Amino acid sequence: MKNRHKTILRKIISNIRSRSYTVGNAKVAACLVYKNKIFYGENKAKTNSFMYEFYNTNPVYTHAEVDVIKQASKFLSEKEFSKSTLYVVRVTKKGELALAKPCKKGCQQLIRSYGIKSVIYSTNECDFERLSFLN
Ligand SMILES: [Zn+2]
Repeated sequence: MKNRHKTILRKIISNIRSRSYTVGNAKVAACLVYKNKIFYGENKAKTNSFMYEFYNTNPVYTHAEVDVIKQASKFLSEKEFSKSTLYVVRVTKKGELALAKPCKKGCQQLIRSYGIKSVIYSTNECDFERLSFLN
């Protein structure tokens, strides 16, 4: 994995570990990076309009991917989204890295609809993987 990815992932991990509260047993953070523009989002115990738009079930909290894409959508063009990288990290209550693969029904649809082609997420093995649905 490129050094730039590692640097960003380390920063996200440290941010999310320092958060005091968990949502649904975990702390999840997502970062969307386009060149020198960095957007940061977290899972939140509150829903928002994007959740209603992309999730079939009644959303009770916001996924970190939704949080960050909603923020970035105010600043990035369609073309910039397609050249961005989305990072997703999940940390358990104990502070261990866990699988943060974007959920199929909601987040993957959202990622697709924004044309994001590069997605890196933490796994249970304290490692990272790339989302492969993106051809
Ligand atoms: Zn999700």
